[in-house]
Amino acid sequence: MSITQEAQARPGAASDLDYDAIIIGAGISGMYQLHRLRELGMRVLVLEAGSGVGGTWYWNRYPGARFDSESYSYSYSFSKELLEEWDWSEHFSAQPETLRYLNHVADKFDLCRDIRFDSRVTSAHYREGTRRWDIALQDGSRFSTRFLITALGPLSAPTMPRIEGRDSFQGSSFHTYLWPHEKVDFAGKRVAVIGTGATGVQTIQTIASQVGHLTVFQRTPNWCAPLHNGLIDAAEMAVIKAGYPEMFKRCQETFACFLHTADPRGTFEVSDEEREAFFEELYGQPGFGIWQGNFRDILTDRNANALISDFVARKIRSRVKNPELAEKLIPRNHGFGTRRVPLETRYYEVYNQDNVTLVDLLETPIERITPTGIRTSAADHEFDIIIYATGFDAITGSFDRIDIRGTDGLALKDKWKTGPQTYLGVLVESFPNMMMLMGPHTALGNIPRSIEYNVDWVTGLLRFARENGLTRLEATDAGVASWTNHVKALGEGLLANEIDSWMTGINSNVEGKQTRIIARYSGSAPAYRERCDQVAAEGYQELALA
Ligand code: NAP
Repeated sequence: MSITQEAQARPGAASDLDYDAIIIGAGISGMYQLHRLRELGMRVLVLEAGSGVGGTWYWNRYPGARFDSESYSYSYSFSKELLEEWDWSEHFSAQPETLRYLNHVADKFDLCRDIRFDSRVTSAHYREGTRRWDIALQDGSRFSTRFLITALGPLSAPTMPRIEGRDSFQGSSFHTYLWPHEKVDFAGKRVAVIGTGATGVQTIQTIASQVGHLTVFQRTPNWCAPLHNGLIDAAEMAVIKAGYPEMFKRCQETFACFLHTADPRGTFEVSDEEREAFFEELYGQPGFGIWQGNFRDILTDRNANALISDFVARKIRSRVKNPELAEKLIPRNHGFGTRRVPLETRYYEVYNQDNVTLVDLLETPIERITPTGIRTSAADHEFDIIIYATGFDAITGSFDRIDIRGTDGLALKDKWKTGPQTYLGVLVESFPNMMMLMGPHTALGNIPRSIEYNVDWVTGLLRFARENGLTRLEATDAGVASWTNHVKALGEGLLANEIDSWMTGINSNVEGKQTRIIARYSGSAPAYRERCDQVAAEGYQELALA
């Protein structure tokens, strides 16, 4: 029996509603949630702002965009058939291949028939009398639904720098997230890149050999480490496939669901020689090992962190020929791994090229964008193309951009003014029947692994609602206070939480995002799942159900 039939004659009969569930976003989480809710026989609609599926991998088409985690560990694991039929061509696949994969998934599970593309949601208002959500779109369309599921993505609200004169520039300019679908020709062009986060690094290292001249505007250098990508041939893919059960099991067991997990040893429990050899080994390995698989205390112990930072600084010095330039590329205000580590392929060597210039904005800040380029306190730089790799209003930004209102017209943005408050990162009190996928306070880590868990948990909750004829699911004050305090306590002692970055909710380009918040759950993924499983096993007693 569908929710539609079950809820007849309840407040706001389901038959009066357009849908049983509306999902906002057709990225990895929205796509999988649609698939799972169909299994419950629900009437589901996905609203997607883009013209295709893929979310992050639909939008981020900038040059060099690719996985920083092993492709196979970042795919869906729920379908054996899908795992068997898809071959990855690289250990860290590039955006076009990942998007092809996600389109393949959409085709295989016939997802697009329930996805409305080019549909940007502007508001979502809860109506207590009928226990429904009213959703409005930018194009004026409106839909009603019992349940609202946000699958917005933690990094999907791109932000432009607040620099005067931005609109006056007469050349081409792009934010990396909003990259054009047509190929951009860099040959012979004078190109600027503003921003040196993971996105800037991938862009810079990719276009440096294509442009006439590249000028990198760096405010804060980041600690980057080698990706060590490689091709996968048929024989290796067969071995990877044979190892899937073991690999996905390992992902479930590691701290953040990555293939890499912290070494049980402390930094000072080994000799200097052993430590150096271990750092060297990690620097030579593919992927996030140097960040996620390092000594267990590098992200909590200042002295331990200083040693790995010093090691990576030495690597930067050895790779950049000009010693003065090398010093500018070494971070001074944060230690290794306290911000998300960009993985790179010959990034530092780019600065040895004659056609590449670094402008250190700490010495010569940008004053304005001019019709012909960028003016710093020291000089006017002329450009044909300006690339803004300036990041995102992360985690809560995509929520802030929708007028989400719960009971008594309460705005989510106001409720979260001093930082998000959630129950398990999934529900918020005063916002009944709204569930968040990859919202604040969930375990992020290896995102597809976390998504599959999150989606399965929400699916379990909605199955429970159907089986028990429930039409109103809400977190309690006590539940939200307890989870929020738990998340805050877990964040104590983490060096990353003392640093400005998107992970601590800082964005210099967004009003009101200058104070650090605890936006991420920083406990282990197994502990997160254990807690959520317990709530489900106890019949969701911690929720207010009606
Ligand atoms: P980001 O890490 O927030 O970096 C933004 C960059 O722009 C920073 O260097 C920042 O400098 C600079 N910036 C911002 N506003 C500026 C201004 N007004 N003037 C000068 N510089 C300015 O953003 P991102 O690089 O897009 O990466 C965000 C996250 O996306 C990553 O951490 C990662 O989680 C994810 N990502 C993943 C992949 C992958 O998996 N392969 C690739 C790319 C991104 P400050 O540091 O001084 O603020």
